[in-house]
Amino acid sequence: MWRIVLLGAVFSLLPAAGRLQAQRSPEPPRLLDDIRFLSEDQLQGRMTGSPGADSAAAYLARRFSQVGLQPAAGGWLQSFTVGRDAPAVRQTNSGAVVGRNVIGILPGRDRVLRNQTVVLGAHYDHLGFGGFGSLDPDSNGLVHNGADDNASGIAALIQVAARLAASPPARTVVFIAFSGEELGLLGSAYYVKQPIYPLAQTLAMVNLDMVGRLRNGRLIVYGARSAKEFPALLDSLNWYAGFDLKAQGDGYGPSDHSSFYAAKRPVLHVFTDLHEDYHRTTDDWQKVNYDGLKRVADFTLGLVTALADRTSPLTFVDLPTVAPQAVRPGSGPPGYGAYLGTVPDMTGAPGGVRLVGVRAGSPAEKAGLRGDDIITRIGSKETPDLQAMTDALRSHKPGDTVEILVRRGPAVTTLRATLGERGG
Ligand SMILES: [Zn+2]
Repeated sequence: MWRIVLLGAVFSLLPAAGRLQAQRSPEPPRLLDDIRFLSEDQLQGRMTGSPGADSAAAYLARRFSQVGLQPAAGGWLQSFTVGRDAPAVRQTNSGAVVGRNVIGILPGRDRVLRNQTVVLGAHYDHLGFGGFGSLDPDSNGLVHNGADDNASGIAALIQVAARLAASPPARTVVFIAFSGEELGLLGSAYYVKQPIYPLAQTLAMVNLDMVGRLRNGRLIVYGARSAKEFPALLDSLNWYAGFDLKAQGDGYGPSDHSSFYAAKRPVLHVFTDLHEDYHRTTDDWQKVNYDGLKRVADFTLGLVTALADRTSPLTFVDLPTVAPQAVRPGSGPPGYGAYLGTVPDMTGAPGGVRLVGVRAGSPAEKAGLRGDDIITRIGSKETPDLQAMTDALRSHKPGDTVEILVRRGPAVTTLRATLGERGG
């Protein structure tokens, strides 16, 4: 997942790893195998354009074939060039690199509907040896394995593919393992520009990004408002699944579904929320909740089946939201420099952005912000939601001192923060 990095992240709500271990029951071996393979140190964090990412791509093409998918028209791999201007590439001085999306399809069984597709996507690239995008300040040079981000989504995608292949739905399902996501949604942006199957015939895109840390049965599905029919569909699927389901939001967010929403397709992002290991060297396979991941894969299987079999179209909803810069590949996030160091609650709060914590030593901590605070204004800008808060931070430079209006229980307080520089 990308761009949450702008706000910085840390929190410690997880039970100790030992307790998670004890709660786990035997998991399906392939789910575990796929996550372990992708998040072993030998893949070196799967940075786009690296040998580790190429090994991952070869592995995924093999797995897609094993579970019964066919290569996309044009082959398993769709290559794209990451320009020198991409922030991560600029930082490493490595010049342009080539990223590869891995694409497999399951042809639909209905003679007419098979000309339409449903896309199920998950990114397989991660942060390599840290630096750009990492939230561990001292981790440059240490491998970031990205087990939850996003080996978990890839493992679930392969599970769904294997089970759908046994009984294909009416429409064709296109499975895409994206690269370049951590550099700014580059792989999905490229696919949307050069779609192998016409976007006009693409009913919807479902994105699995960070689905390995289910806690208290709480599943987030963003994009629920991107098609009129989604809320009812998700509700009925959850009647069986029994998640504490938070289905909400338009189709913009810090992951690959944004690219498809910008191309005016209905999208859904399945997500088990941020955690203390997000974009850190500690995002390892031992911490994945396999029972939870299996439940998420089951839910996604039901979702993709329902979409690929439905007889009526979906009604795209173009919400009057300003598209975030995230969908502009290669440009890098504007205002990248201004850093506060808060950890927002991704499910939102009435009238503001609730924090689950602040990063140690961050401007947020120094300003006196803390967990459960609800930020309602930064500088002159109201912050009714996360997007507004991101925009408010972007409008400032590192070194600026801003007033932050905070609701803390029944009280309202004004704090002052001097914004720092990210990665500085
Ligand atoms: Zn990420």
